[in-house]
Amino acid sequence: METVLFLIVFIGVPTFILLYWIIKLAVRQGILEANKIMQNPKTPKTYDSITKIICTNCDGEHDLDWPKCPHCGHINKMI
Ligand SMILES: [Zn+2]
Repeated sequence: METVLFLIVFIGVPTFILLYWIIKLAVRQGILEANKIMQNPKTPKTYDSITKIICTNCDGEHDLDWPKCPHCGHINKMI
């Protein structure tokens, strides 16, 4: 019975942590890759076509499809 506990603690836990870090790194790398594409001037800037609105509360610019202002949380009703 102690052998099972030993296996769980000394093999299962490090394996779980290792997997967690691999997934975390993969996600981070994915985000970095996405940022590179966004920063590349050759890539068509499709995100620029999204209509921007100015928040009536803090004067911060944000996309029209955001339900709330990302800067202050103010709900901007554009309709
Ligand atoms: Zn705002």
